[in-house]
Amino acid sequence: MAQQEDHFKKVISHAKEYGYIFGSSEIYDGLSAVYDYGQNGAELKKNIRDYWWKSMVQMNENIVGLDASIFMHPTTWKASGHVEAFNDPLIDNKDSKKRYRADVLIEDYAEKINQKAEKEIAKAKKRFGESFDEAEFVSTNPRVLRYREEQDTILKRMARSLEAEDLADVKALIEELGIADPDTGSKNWTDVRQFNLMFGTKLGASAETATDLYLRPETAQGIFVNFLNVQKSGRMKIPFGIAQTGKAFRNEIVARQFIFRMREFEQMEMQFFVRPGEELKWYEHWKETRLNWHLSLGLGKENYRFHDHEKLAHYANAAADIEFNFPFGFKELEGIHSRTDFDLKAHEEHSGKKLQFFDPELNENYVPYVVETSIGLDRMFLAVFSQSLEEEELENGSTRTVLKLPAILAPVKAAILPLVKKDGLPEVARKIIDDLKWDFNVTYDEKDAVGRRYRRQDAAGTPFCITVDHDTLEDDSVTIRDRDTMEQKRVKISELNTILHDKIDFKNWMKS
Ligand code: ATP
Repeated sequence: MAQQEDHFKKVISHAKEYGYIFGSSEIYDGLSAVYDYGQNGAELKKNIRDYWWKSMVQMNENIVGLDASIFMHPTTWKASGHVEAFNDPLIDNKDSKKRYRADVLIEDYAEKINQKAEKEIAKAKKRFGESFDEAEFVSTNPRVLRYREEQDTILKRMARSLEAEDLADVKALIEELGIADPDTGSKNWTDVRQFNLMFGTKLGASAETATDLYLRPETAQGIFVNFLNVQKSGRMKIPFGIAQTGKAFRNEIVARQFIFRMREFEQMEMQFFVRPGEELKWYEHWKETRLNWHLSLGLGKENYRFHDHEKLAHYANAAADIEFNFPFGFKELEGIHSRTDFDLKAHEEHSGKKLQFFDPELNENYVPYVVETSIGLDRMFLAVFSQSLEEEELENGSTRTVLKLPAILAPVKAAILPLVKKDGLPEVARKIIDDLKWDFNVTYDEKDAVGRRYRRQDAAGTPFCITVDHDTLEDDSVTIRDRDTMEQKRVKISELNTILHDKIDFKNWMKS
């Protein structure tokens, strides 16, 4: 645990030191849970977005893109259920004046009980060694059974009370369990209240005529309201998808864990429209396809898992998260939801316009069902960045900090380094840059000894270093060094473009 926390701290400071992420308006002491992406962060974020877009839109004949506005007609959010039900239950501590999500306080408490059970299991595993039968132990050990039951009872009661909107019982549960303010230990709580997560704003010049608007809390609704526009103008046939990336805003009560939970963030969503009755087949298809997309980045299969939702949102008939092993444990990275015809039907009702598809094969009109894939770009950034950052022990006993970003996502693909700042080497290096920069984001670095420069590029995440030395002047060859293996190879300048394409090109990457 301490090791994990330590790694997380390193992630945050490394992101700042190497120009990936800064706190927002830092010169004014920042704005809580709002972040800015620096020179490298902007590139990494763009590369993740492009990788998603190419995989979803370019590679699928039946998926097209969209770029809808952040502002939408306010009725949109009545139809979607966000005005009524996009709430978190919050509770304040009267002594510390701190605000918490009541459900998160209870979930954290239940997780502690779970940890006790896990400890018992780990102890037994150690004691019994090879012959340990975990399933048997978990189903018979009285302590583990008690912990598990306790946890289950608490979570079930919470789910029941939240479902019934019995907020008094949520508070009663917090008091019965003796849950204290995690910061101060105080148990002096206010009542639990519902808090809507949408940011409101106004459109119009004068106070009397202004319309109340919301900043969109998800990009999905922009897709639903344009369903027919895209279907008709693109002559799309079901099944087909509409994909979109863009900002979303949520007034999160407790925004923490760096860019994991922000108030302004970016989503990458795709809504796939299918025949009613075929949605669960497509749901399975997209679960598998999206997991494979993650695995294609090579961050380690063991760092992903599915979490199927037991309690489904009112609009869904199946839902799962792809969870990632973040520095603070497994947490939701992407959601795959079978949303039925809920959204399109709701927009039909509120707008009075038909949102239906005429299926020529069935010779009938229907409101399509929808399977959605929804991922947070910033969360994806954190997953990639935190998993790539390593302190590596080298054979000679020293250590190096290396950011092993997947080469296809790395902000800068290669650094061109003249061995010394004279003898015409910088000029050759500049010429190489002038040639490569048409295809790749490359950089020039001549300061310090070349070993120091290698370390600097390792830490910044640059996958290749290309060094120009005195032999280059004779044989038109340079040394190319691989960030991860630290292997160096002598190659012709004329081969550089092909070498980089082989390693970084979308097609070659996907094929390998
Ligand atoms: P959580 O349970 O973590 O609040 P959610 O289930 O509300 O997330 P969705 O509404 O399904 O999230 O949104 C889809 C995706 O958008 C999430 O999987 C996540 O990657 C991202 N996301 C949601 N809220 C935030 C946020 N506040 N900051 C950053 N990313 C977010």
